[in-house]
Amino acid sequence: MKIPERFQLGGHTFTVREGHVFVERTDLYGQCDTGRNELRLAAVTSGGAPLARSVVEQAFFHELTHAIDAIFCNRKLTEDQTEQLAQGFYQVVRQMVAP
Ligand SMILES: [Zn+2]
Repeated sequence: MKIPERFQLGGHTFTVREGHVFVERTDLYGQCDTGRNELRLAAVTSGGAPLARSVVEQAFFHELTHAIDAIFCNRKLTEDQTEQLAQGFYQVVRQMVAP
């Protein structure tokens, strides 16, 4: 699945940065920065091993859900709700784009 480099959400243009190196918290797989309109996605685990592509893709949907929540839902979703919705979106979209 191709993760977009940019996408429009509300009136905002978000940039997706794959392969981001998290310095302060190396256990993060992704981060949504609505102050800078950026989604950051890690490429490796905290131990430096490459993340499975499905993990990176799932992280994209998780951070996208945070962005949707921030822009359209006034940050009402919990972390669990964010992850549950993201897993559902990813499951369906993955089937749509898989050969
Ligand atoms: Zn989260």
